[in-house]
Amino acid sequence: MEIYRVHILALVSILIFSPVVHGWGIDGHLTICRIAQSRLSEAAATAVKKLLPASAEGDLGSKCSWADNVKFRYRWSSALHYIDTPDNLCTYQYTRDCKDGNGVKDRCVAGAINNYTSQLLTYGSAASQYNLTQALLFLSHFIGDIHQPLHVGFTSDRGGNTIDVKWYTTKMVLHHTWDSNIIETSEERSYDSSPDGLIDAIQKNITAEWADQVPMWEKCSRNLTTCPDMYVLYSKILSNHFPQLVSVLKS
Ligand SMILES: [Zn+2]
Repeated sequence: MEIYRVHILALVSILIFSPVVHGWGIDGHLTICRIAQSRLSEAAATAVKKLLPASAEGDLGSKCSWADNVKFRYRWSSALHYIDTPDNLCTYQYTRDCKDGNGVKDRCVAGAINNYTSQLLTYGSAASQYNLTQALLFLSHFIGDIHQPLHVGFTSDRGGNTIDVKWYTTKMVLHHTWDSNIIETSEERSYDSSPDGLIDAIQKNITAEWADQVPMWEKCSRNLTTCPDMYVLYSKILSNHFPQLVSVLKS
């Protein structure tokens, strides 16, 4: 029930603010990364600034859609933006569901979060063999994707890309509506068409209205280093309510 409440709050917040597997649009990813960067520890913030390319000018949000931009250059990365569960099964199991279209295990958004977190933990070690700038840009993007419920959907509807809905007068697929239309319309109506006001509004809610929820969001069960399974579960609970959402958007 508590998890459900969190998701309703998340849904409401998205609605207020708010190829097949793109993830949030540019503003959605930028919003998530700017908020995340503002909440880093001093040591993590310093590491992030050192790892960011110079063109980011210290702003993680400006590079948060990089993983979408390189999807065609790094074709192997496409499967890392989402996770599907079997049709009509409202449960999630990492060992059953985290695999790519060829059945290769650990190739899904939850597996990618584990992998790039492990890589980033080698930061500061002279022996690190990874490209940690890429690891940072992938991780920060995938943390956003895993919270997009249509990235944790059923296999056959391709993350809502086969579901037509109506966004006001325009016909859209559900996935695009969730990625971009909801956020952009909210920005147009309430925040001078800029993500800055949206980010401020979410930040205020985190320190006020939602403050009692924050410890749970931060909690990593069993003291694991990463908790993608918990994030998948949150998104899964929300996506289970999509039939009602779709019926509203179709009307
Ligand atoms: Zn993505």
